[in-house]
Amino acid sequence: MRLLMYSKALYSTWIYYSADRILFDAGEGASSILGNKSFAIRRIFLSHGHADHISGLIGLVNIRNNAMGDTEKELSVYYPKDSYLIGEMIKYISRTNRRLDYHLEWIPLAPGDRVELLDCQMPRYVEAFPTQHVSTETSLGYNVVEVRHRLKPQFANLSQEEIVAKVKAGERAALSEHYHQKLFSYGGDSVAIKPAYIADTEILCHDTTFLDESDRKEYKHATLAEAIACARNARVKKELYCFHISSRYKAQLRKLELAGVPMEELDFRVTLIPPGRIYSVD
Ligand SMILES: [Zn+2]
Repeated sequence: MRLLMYSKALYSTWIYYSADRILFDAGEGASSILGNKSFAIRRIFLSHGHADHISGLIGLVNIRNNAMGDTEKELSVYYPKDSYLIGEMIKYISRTNRRLDYHLEWIPLAPGDRVELLDCQMPRYVEAFPTQHVSTETSLGYNVVEVRHRLKPQFANLSQEEIVAKVKAGERAALSEHYHQKLFSYGGDSVAIKPAYIADTEILCHDTTFLDESDRKEYKHATLAEAIACARNARVKKELYCFHISSRYKAQLRKLELAGVPMEELDFRVTLIPPGRIYSVD
């Protein structure tokens, strides 16, 4: 299992990204559905403070202290700084959990802030980027980024022998360059994300509250067409997961999946996460 997702607009949203043991948002029911996997979570990144994205924190913090598992594993929760609602949640959880067995840390983030992820083969970090949800609530999206090496373009035509000769001559460092590959991008409840923030990501999770533009009454959340346009402009490499779909489309979803969009023109796969169903990706 690489990803475990649950998303139903207005009710609950959370996505567990197992590669780095990260939970993106923590809507209601996260810990009861994750069960023992709740103990695997090392970090939680919250996109904003609305109840459908944070109400699962109470259960999760509690279960990590009480269920059959390693109750001493530390947990870090990152959130958009200045979020009043999350500030109140932190106060509540802190007052009602004065004696946790594990270390629980709350870390405010601003756009551009980075969190280093340890225990990885290649250096990795999570980077926060700005998103736009509602004017009354500050919100962030997050990229999981890996720092990789590649041959500098000017050496692309060298043969294997020439490369080996240069390495033997002590020129290894001059041959290659670092680049930052986004592996996973999560945008929370944002309107269409600015493609520059998620450029060339492998996997994008984009709000798709509305499958049909005519159902959107004010400029909030995103439509399926916007999510696909965003992924296309950002040159998403592998997958677009459309989440936060309104339950009004529950009955139609199958039909829409089949009718779909002109998938053959896209470089990535599009998956609609059915509202109210647990969705697992291996
Ligand atoms: Zn929401």
